[in-house]
Amino acid sequence: MTILDGKQTSAQIKEELRVEVEERKRKGLKVPHLAAILVGEDGASMTYVNSKVKSCKAIGYDSTLIRLDSAISEEKLLETIDELNDNTDIDGFIVQLPLPKHIDEQKVIERVHPEKDVDGFHPENFGRMALGLPTFIPATPNGIMELLRRYEVPTEGKSCIVIGRSHIVGLPMSILMGLNDVPGNCTVTLTHSRTKNLKEICQNADILIVALGKPEFVTGEMVKEGAVVIDVGITRVPDETKKSGFRLLGDVHYDSVAPRTSFITPVPGGVGPMTIASLLQNTLKAVKRKE
Ligand code: NAD
Repeated sequence: MTILDGKQTSAQIKEELRVEVEERKRKGLKVPHLAAILVGEDGASMTYVNSKVKSCKAIGYDSTLIRLDSAISEEKLLETIDELNDNTDIDGFIVQLPLPKHIDEQKVIERVHPEKDVDGFHPENFGRMALGLPTFIPATPNGIMELLRRYEVPTEGKSCIVIGRSHIVGLPMSILMGLNDVPGNCTVTLTHSRTKNLKEICQNADILIVALGKPEFVTGEMVKEGAVVIDVGITRVPDETKKSGFRLLGDVHYDSVAPRTSFITPVPGGVGPMTIASLLQNTLKAVKRKE
């Protein structure tokens, strides 16, 4: 069994990006600039955004964090997005999700200019991804593809089962794994909360990608011997022994599943760090597309 080490791989990608940014600076080319909008004070969202900003700094990108009150009106948020769309120094930006209930998330996603949509959530970019055209691929699926690519995990002709159909993880993941590409060329089944016989379906998976947000949902008996298991789930569960007061659990019961697999991602240190690395890659792509 090989652990797909997202922490190490993302560190490697960040180092590659840092070197490229340094070279760009030497050549007088533009330094990538990523902006993030954070609405409200959700603990997990704050952690994610802060680590995105920190990662930008570490590799020499410019970064801007815009913090808005949770009571901000939808109109005001859309105006802020327009400002970032018009700001020529900002190459790409993200609006950290989830947003407060009174704001229409889809409206927000569609307001971000597709050329600055480094999260790859805009329908135009999503459509391009589905067609296999050059675009920004959503950070988490892109990070998973990069892990599979760098570890040379065989995917062609394999049966791939995806659990969860969210627009940010499960659905794009199912599309990418079915494209005629490397990694890709899988026979894909997308499963969700209405799926019947999920256990039997999972038992047939050569590659199992789990993104439903239910801690330790997938157990050893659901996994075929030799399968590749990608655990996207991150749930904070209370833990008094930790300084933070919580620990992170994946959607996969690691101890019973890992011994059966050929490759597996741990939680933490698997898919999570890859997501940030992908966002940074997308931001560099946004700059280069303009050159
Ligand atoms: P979501 O809540 O938007 O979607 C969950 C999906 O799981 C839904 O499509 C639902 O149909 C499906 N589902 C729910 N119960 C099910 C069941 N019993 N059987 C089969 N399918 C079921 O979640 P999301 O945004 O896709 O996130 C999923 C998990 O991944 C969460 O734990 C989240 O924190 C984590 N996540 C991690 C990263 C990362 O960088 N590692 C990024 C995004 C999300």
